[in-house]
Amino acid sequence: MSALPIPTPMPPLLGPHWPNRFASLGADFFTELPPQGLPDPHWVAWSADCAQLLGLPGEPPSDARLLAALSGNLAEAPMQPLASVYSGHQFGVWAGQLGDGRALWLGELQTPAGPMEIQLKGAGLTPYSRMGDGRAVLRSSIREFLASEAMHALGVPTTRALSITGSALPVRREEIETAAVVTRVAPSFIRFGHFEHFAHTEPNVDALRRLVDFVIDIGYPECRDAAQPAVALLEAVARRTARLMADWQAVGFCHGVMNTDNMSILGLTIDYGPYGFLDAFDPGHICNHSDHQGRYAYARQPNVAFWNLHALAQALLPLIDDQEAALEALEPYKTEFAATLDARMAAKLGLAAAQDGDRALAEGLLQRMAADRADFSITFRRLAGFDSRDGATNDALRDLFIDREAFDAWARNYAARLRSEGSVDAERALRMNRVNPKYVLRNHLADTAIRAARGGDFSEVQRLLKVLSAPFDEQPEHAAYADFPPDWAQHIEVSCSS
Ligand code: AMP
Ligand code: MG
Repeated sequence: MSALPIPTPMPPLLGPHWPNRFASLGADFFTELPPQGLPDPHWVAWSADCAQLLGLPGEPPSDARLLAALSGNLAEAPMQPLASVYSGHQFGVWAGQLGDGRALWLGELQTPAGPMEIQLKGAGLTPYSRMGDGRAVLRSSIREFLASEAMHALGVPTTRALSITGSALPVRREEIETAAVVTRVAPSFIRFGHFEHFAHTEPNVDALRRLVDFVIDIGYPECRDAAQPAVALLEAVARRTARLMADWQAVGFCHGVMNTDNMSILGLTIDYGPYGFLDAFDPGHICNHSDHQGRYAYARQPNVAFWNLHALAQALLPLIDDQEAALEALEPYKTEFAATLDARMAAKLGLAAAQDGDRALAEGLLQRMAADRADFSITFRRLAGFDSRDGATNDALRDLFIDREAFDAWARNYAARLRSEGSVDAERALRMNRVNPKYVLRNHLADTAIRAARGGDFSEVQRLLKVLSAPFDEQPEHAAYADFPPDWAQHIEVSCSS
């Protein structure tokens, strides 16, 4: 039998198969409009890993049409560019209508991980731009790109980023910067705020029902046959959000703007703005310079997510018979969060089987770390090398703490706990190094890459992406990226300006 000729594939992003299931929701969900592309665009960054998911090459393609498409200069049929409308609570206050002020949904591609929506962020004004200019600057685009891919590599559910394209187009923020477009990828970009939009003021029950059915179809098929699908969906979203919060806390990630319009209905991390990874551990750490009250401080994130889930429940009420059922659907959030965080912390400590007292042991360490401002990632990474034998001093770890006696007391408990389950240090170290990252996207690393990129050198963005794509590997040649932040990092201010 002769082999079939293999046709030269169309780059999947420009191929004919380009459905947009979101558009099937109906005209009250969006406005169709073409992107306003970047003038004279160039590639800034490309994620080989995300590209592979989409069936694209590992390097930025030389195909000029792809550069055009991913800078907003080519969005012809069957692409169907549209901006969606949503509303939301910002900093705890109802903000009314918001929407995709600078993001456009192009449609979706089939991938081994299921259908993926493709979005351009920064490709011009939409009816929802309000006071904004529809643009995203290079600085914030690099931050979103790197964080999306870094979180994915850490195993935290997140929207992905395929590429950044840039341009000399000036954009006014605190100073004049230049414009960029990030191509984002996710199974769906639907937010809690999409539901709130159709529920607030005058509920549009029909639209809400369509939205619930749609989200169940694309992300929660197990809720389809429930007696009350909206209640089942609420509970499933609560559980997924709980697990996401446990993941954030366990890797020391602070989102910075957990408004309900920045909460993914699929439990993904979405909208990377003034986020941060913890350096010196401070549970009250506020990563967003504009968050004066500390509403979104690190330790508050799990409670804020629960608050946001109440806003979602409120939005679903027109579809739910009684308020009690909605509140009950949120209850599992608490147990799911606690159980997931306990499991994450046990893994971070290298404990094999759960025992009473494990939570106190983990909290004891976090308290010591907070008291002495020990570096979050470095402490857990060094903990892998903990020597549990009697009399071991564990100097590399101990040196991270100011109050050595207090650390020693904790270490004695930890050693006893490890011995109680016959833990083998070398095996435990391997396990721990698979959950405690050596490399996280600290602000100063992003800052260095951004400064080089603003000068026209994009190699540091790409290098950092590569390092962060294997955050659990030793990568001795890149050890400097795992170091303590330099003194100047304390003065980095990250605000909502993007
Ligand atoms: P964020 O808090 O960054 O997620 O954005 C909140 C809202 O402001 C969303 O509706 C965004 O689309 C919108 N927005 C933010 N920046 C801009 C911009 N430069 N142009 C248009 N809309 C924007
Ligand atoms: Mg947002």
